[in-house]
Amino acid sequence: MKVAVYYNNRHIEIEERPIPEPGEGEILVQTKACGVCVGDTMEWYLTPRAPLVLGHEATGIVARTGKGVKNFREGDRVVVHHHVPCLVCNNCLKGRYTSCATFRSTHYNPGGFAEYFIASAHHVAVDTLILPDQLSFVEGTLVEPLACVIHALRLAAVKPEESVVLVGTGAMGLMFIQLLLHYGIRKLVVYEVLPWRQEIARRLGAPVVLTPLEDPDKEAERLQDLLSAEGADKVLVVAKDLSAINMGMRLAGRGGTVLLFATTHPEEKVDFYPSRIFFYEQTVLSSYSADHLDTRAALELLSQGVIDTRTIITHTFPLERLSDAILHTQGRKESLKCVIEL
Ligand SMILES: [Zn+2]
Ligand SMILES: [Zn+2]
Repeated sequence: MKVAVYYNNRHIEIEERPIPEPGEGEILVQTKACGVCVGDTMEWYLTPRAPLVLGHEATGIVARTGKGVKNFREGDRVVVHHHVPCLVCNNCLKGRYTSCATFRSTHYNPGGFAEYFIASAHHVAVDTLILPDQLSFVEGTLVEPLACVIHALRLAAVKPEESVVLVGTGAMGLMFIQLLLHYGIRKLVVYEVLPWRQEIARRLGAPVVLTPLEDPDKEAERLQDLLSAEGADKVLVVAKDLSAINMGMRLAGRGGTVLLFATTHPEEKVDFYPSRIFFYEQTVLSSYSADHLDTRAALELLSQGVIDTRTIITHTFPLERLSDAILHTQGRKESLKCVIEL
């Protein structure tokens, strides 16, 4: 089978490897599609561990089942979540599945950017889902990213009556918009610098889409006029630039929450005023990945057509062009979600 081995964003080699055999409780999945994540473009995070096989947003067909597999059969269309919690550790028992050590260490073998991969017995038991017929393999790759959006909205506990500021409208930001509107949020102010993305945000129903002003204090004033309140109840920063985070922190109101959805480079830091957070009783939190409850919710919402998948998925590439797909995702040229189709 063909496997795309990652060295860096511009250096990916297609290797020939034997198709693995599924062990007890495992399934062999023939990959049909796998999304490229912004995480797949972060060289500072990836190259120290290279060579490696990326791809964690895969869908495919069950090609073979290992001994003892009862709930899946050959030919089933599936979406496999790459991280699965143990369900019994201290973190899991408190519902913090994404902090579980098992969760963090589980992944497909070898990865989604390969013609086949093995889903372990634990993957099969906890977070392998049947892809309904109305969703294509390519659309199904949005289960994991959408689950991350759901996870963030759960943590931020956004309520319909609240005002929400969203910073950044890449593929994830645009899914946030659709979900927020679906959840009944009407006081929504979206910030985006790229005009073509602003256009899509408006088309998807975002009521107010703005180019952020250079000075966060000035932006806070403008927002105050828009919301008739001193800042937003919830600020979702779906961008990894420090300027976006700085502005997001400035735009939260009294009792407000700032949720950081993307990671900066580990050496970047933000200056903030603890006094403002204190007197305003604000919360700053972050959201990492998604759990098995989020993937189920995501699959349901995708099946119901809540997300305009055609707008979100702008490009598909063959496995051989993975490097192009990664560079597209990184370059933010007129592309949103790139998916590898096999
Ligand atoms: Zn992802
Ligand atoms: Zn656990």
